[in-house]
Amino acid sequence: MKGVAMLIKLTKGLGFSSAHLIIEHEKCERLHGHNYRVGVTVEGEPNEQGIIVDFLELKRILKQLCGRYDHHILLPENNPALKRLSEGASTRIAVRGREFEFPSENVVWLPVVNTTVEELARIIADEVVQNLPYPNVRRITIWVEESPGQGATEERRIKD
Ligand SMILES: [Zn+2]
Repeated sequence: MKGVAMLIKLTKGLGFSSAHLIIEHEKCERLHGHNYRVGVTVEGEPNEQGIIVDFLELKRILKQLCGRYDHHILLPENNPALKRLSEGASTRIAVRGREFEFPSENVVWLPVVNTTVEELARIIADEVVQNLPYPNVRRITIWVEESPGQGATEERRIKD
């Protein structure tokens, strides 16, 4: 099958439950949570053993990532409307005149402007691309859904 691109898909059993707020969104700026689902599609050429990517390896990478977010409050590092008031045992933030306080160990800061599915798909794709040790991968697509039918995909072309 050399030279022929094939797809593998991992679409079940991966996800995380987290709280967040979407800054400058009328309804979603209130603190709320989702049971996020995560999926991945990998396109590439199967190697001599007929493998593009080992499913177990792919699952391990995504499970580790989901585990970091699971049962945490996800906050965006890059939003100018979010002010960090203090960070010790508690993290206090202000968002457009409203203050929140969380135990710091429950908070995960993410390099995004908002913790939207679009942004989550982007940073998850970054990590998967960095950690996948398979040279025959051509393209990776990450999919993140915050509720059924409401999600985003991020595609990374690794080689042509
Ligand atoms: Zn939300």
